[in-house]
Amino acid sequence: MDNLIICDRCGSDACYVQEVNQDIKNYMCYGCGFQSNSLMKQGEQFFEEQMELLPNLYKELMGEDEKGKIWMPTTVNMPSKGMIFADGTNALNWRWAGVKAVSITKEEQEKYPIPGKKGEFYEWRMDMETIKHFEEKDFIEALDYIGAFDPEPKPKSNWVGIGSSGSYPNLDKSEK
Ligand SMILES: [Zn+2]
Repeated sequence: MDNLIICDRCGSDACYVQEVNQDIKNYMCYGCGFQSNSLMKQGEQFFEEQMELLPNLYKELMGEDEKGKIWMPTTVNMPSKGMIFADGTNALNWRWAGVKAVSITKEEQEKYPIPGKKGEFYEWRMDMETIKHFEEKDFIEALDYIGAFDPEPKPKSNWVGIGSSGSYPNLDKSEK
């Protein structure tokens, strides 16, 4: 089951845990915006791989909690809503950046083909003009800014029903 626990990094009670399998859990904290998982530990292959891919800022911001889990900033990428990433020059000078997704019109579609899929185009793009910065403790404000908690917009090509696909957990803990 997915649930919210106390964050081992910042102590807030908004750390979302997702059990991938018996041995692996993902942690994503809405309080501090950092994430970890059971494999993010010194010496784990998964961790070494991450280290090769991550931007320098992310490496600088990484830190170990008391249980040996290594936390790094979360990167949110919700194609129809927007994205959030850590933006800055170094660990002492950075903020969260929120960027909203905008709908691509029929006229501009040709400019946004989906690679490897002939005749198919993206419906959304990240609009860098909407970039807005948030302090480290305001990660949740950034999520709110890009509309992460709003219901999924209806796909333009296929209008079906109403409601949310709920890609993010409900923060209301009373709802179980
Ligand atoms: Zn936290």
